[in-house]
Amino acid sequence: MTPYSGRFAPSPTGPLHLGSLVAALGSYLDAKANSGLWLLRIEDIDPPREMAGAKELILRQLEDHGLYWDSTAIYQSQRLDTYQEYFDHLKNNQHLYACDCPRHRIRDLNGIYDGHCRDLNLSFDSDAAIRVLLSEKNIGWNDLILGPQSFSFDELGGDFIVRRRDGLFSYQLAVAVDDGLEGITHVIRGADLLDSTARQTYLHKLFGLSSPEYGHLPMVMNNQGQKLSKQTHAPELDSNKSRENLALALNILGQNPPRDISENSCEEIIAWAIHHWNINSVPTKPVEPSN
Ligand code: GLU
Ligand code: ZN
Repeated sequence: MTPYSGRFAPSPTGPLHLGSLVAALGSYLDAKANSGLWLLRIEDIDPPREMAGAKELILRQLEDHGLYWDSTAIYQSQRLDTYQEYFDHLKNNQHLYACDCPRHRIRDLNGIYDGHCRDLNLSFDSDAAIRVLLSEKNIGWNDLILGPQSFSFDELGGDFIVRRRDGLFSYQLAVAVDDGLEGITHVIRGADLLDSTARQTYLHKLFGLSSPEYGHLPMVMNNQGQKLSKQTHAPELDSNKSRENLALALNILGQNPPRDISENSCEEIIAWAIHHWNINSVPTKPVEPSN
């Protein structure tokens, strides 16, 4: 049996919020309940979207909630040569093409790219976006939480971008490379990334890397029915309420902790949660916490 390696992979676009704690805790508990490693990867490959100080803040927020990662954290910003290697591999095997379609053209297609530039042989050296030429229509996997999943690439937006117009590698490429090379066996993350899982498993096939197993956690909604995120101004996770935050996250994860669990230390709460972790109790629908 392959030993379990899980991970948490935040983008430093802002501090962690309750939704990110749910992803961190869910991935942590599944790893630890399976005697696995829980690795931390800071996904800082998108400098324009980065918030100054967020990396340090995220590390501290995790520690303040008793979530300690194994081995040293990996920073995507230090791995650009590796992404380039895998990009070149795709390019050399004719899986990529350049696309200079203006944004409004894609918008007029409702975001579903139609492969317009596939056969145009545009130069990779211009400021075009680079897309992967999809040769399969559908992709699926058996989700550890949601059960069998199947996606049509046409519905997901068609040939997706692996290098942006501004020259930055896409999140899809970097994550597919990292999960593959780090030997991640289990990815437990938010259901907002289901589309990404479809794309990343496709890239794994092209790279010849094996895909981890995936489990997608419920989205956490605010009281206006919006997903907690930076865009919806989700409040920063308050380290002074770490025990209450953990208790709330455990409720969101369907783990039914004892009512007074937040009276214990973070370490005790986490020890309880590892011992009682049941992935089958994780809700499959978005959750709006009651307090
Ligand atoms: N970095 C991504 C984010 O913060 C998530 C990455 C992942 O779990 O694959 O949304
Ligand atoms: Zn195009």
